[in-house]
Amino acid sequence: MDDDIKKTMEIFKKMREDDPGFQFSVELDSQARIKTLIWCGGRSRDQYSCFSDVITFDTTYCTNIYKMPFCLFVGVNNHFQTTIFAGVLMCTEKISNFKWVFEEFIKLMGGKVPQTILTDQCKAMTKAIAIVMPNTYHLWCKWHVMKGIREGLGPLYTKNRKFWDDFWLVVNGMLSIDEFERGWHEVIKNYGLEKNGFMIRTYGKKEKWAKPWSKDKYCARMSSTRRSESANFMLKRFVARDSSMNHFVMQYNRLLFDRDREEDIAEDQTNQLTVIHERLWALERHALSIYTKAAFELFHKEVDKASNYVLTARDGENFTISHDNPSKRAHWARVHYKVEMLDNGSKFKCECGLYEHFGMLCCHSIRLMLKLDVAFIPEAHIMKRWTRDAKDVLPKHLKIFQKDQSIMHSFTFRNRKLRLEALELVRKGDTDLQLFEIVSDHLKQAHKQAHKHVDEVIAARKKALEAGVEDQADDSCDEGVQEECCIGAQSEGEAMIGNKYGASGSSAGMSDSEILKMRAPLVKRFAGRPRSKRFMATSTRFKRRKPNLKLKEGPKSVEFSVGLGTSLSLLSSCVEEDLNGNKIGLLLSRRLKKVTGGEVVV
Ligand SMILES: [Zn+2]
Repeated sequence: MDDDIKKTMEIFKKMREDDPGFQFSVELDSQARIKTLIWCGGRSRDQYSCFSDVITFDTTYCTNIYKMPFCLFVGVNNHFQTTIFAGVLMCTEKISNFKWVFEEFIKLMGGKVPQTILTDQCKAMTKAIAIVMPNTYHLWCKWHVMKGIREGLGPLYTKNRKFWDDFWLVVNGMLSIDEFERGWHEVIKNYGLEKNGFMIRTYGKKEKWAKPWSKDKYCARMSSTRRSESANFMLKRFVARDSSMNHFVMQYNRLLFDRDREEDIAEDQTNQLTVIHERLWALERHALSIYTKAAFELFHKEVDKASNYVLTARDGENFTISHDNPSKRAHWARVHYKVEMLDNGSKFKCECGLYEHFGMLCCHSIRLMLKLDVAFIPEAHIMKRWTRDAKDVLPKHLKIFQKDQSIMHSFTFRNRKLRLEALELVRKGDTDLQLFEIVSDHLKQAHKQAHKHVDEVIAARKKALEAGVEDQADDSCDEGVQEECCIGAQSEGEAMIGNKYGASGSSAGMSDSEILKMRAPLVKRFAGRPRSKRFMATSTRFKRRKPNLKLKEGPKSVEFSVGLGTSLSLLSSCVEEDLNGNKIGLLLSRRLKKVTGGEVVV
């Protein structure tokens, strides 16, 4: 087992060499055994800097030989794809463990705290989130809440399509509180579920998962059941049961590679996106030019829905948008929506709360905007994370190069020349693997030489200050070098990592020899979170009936002759009969066959 840890660390070392942004942190017990491990790559950290607004923390079990739960920090990118931020292995799931994981995650991600976090119903996790991220909204994933639906509702769920359609609409629709209450109670009444335990319990916790109670909490559509389902499915697809830790980390890398490839495809599709619709409103043409393909398709759906609404009343800046054919909708659904226009039309606020919850304009606001001949989506309603430029988020010292920063127009000659040359190199290096390596090597060299020069200038400046020749020192550190000095200071945290493996966060002080002395975690007898430590899924509350099995009558053991006068005794449970009534002994992969009164065939 300890050999497995050494192999894992070798993989970490290689990952750190290939990706200077790779980092991990580890929690050890008094015997240097691993208790908790968290790791993330440079690309994941870049992704987090753009899409950290909403994250989910998902747990899965039985995926490694240590029976340690494996957890993923997951987000959603501007193409509505699931993106992985970090992987975690945990030995135990106490409040202190979760607290450590969340603290380390924030450290590895440069201190940025998410706006919203979605998890399962674990009590310890809930308490840890409240301690580490007190200002973050904590909601439950609908998928986890609904997990027990199959067992809780039985054939009604598996065989009644009509029920499923009605239930889905209430659970996943973008509803207001009054609509949800009416819709839920109608489903309960129509299908006779007034006394159903699953429905009572799920309804009892509605504030933690249902959209009407979290409409002012931004979720980037991650509360939908499908998002979590896909993250769980991805894990099962890549990580085999009972993997060793090193194999596990390699498979995790494969999962990341797969995600990157999917994202590249989506980027390409967005770049090739052209006007495929014959008639588009000006508002849609604007959306097409700013949003990614996936985001535009969702916006387009809202525009489609807007065609079912009309403006029915106006009171100053307050408008009423009504459905033009209420008889077509479920009778619990709302017909009138109030939309308020703010700041002379630079902002619209609809009571359905779709924009606040999801970051995309709702059909009611769009209907009003079309009525008022608004041709461009107001800036207040363009959420950068859904746009083509979502990843154009540069660190503070490079902010002037960001597309949405107006000061970028004031480039100096040096800035402009370097920028163009660097872009040319990036474009060439992206064409094939060999060119990528050539360009990477040269950029690393250039980086090294630039830092060396900055160090020399700083040393000269210090020396000059000590000698009291301040004026001279000021001249030697011009504006450009000062900027480089800032870059040096920013990467100081990275430079403090004094090991080859990328140990960071609270493990940053670990030396290479300490890392190699780490021992494997103890193997747990049972996998999974103790049931007493979580909010019980409805499915686990039902007492399972014990299977009514009767042992077949017969001898308790069967003797098999294995030749040379020796015999083997097998328990009757390890013995089967073939079609001819001959006894067959099952012993691991070997099959012993005894022909009555004859010889043994092995
Ligand atoms: Zn609305």
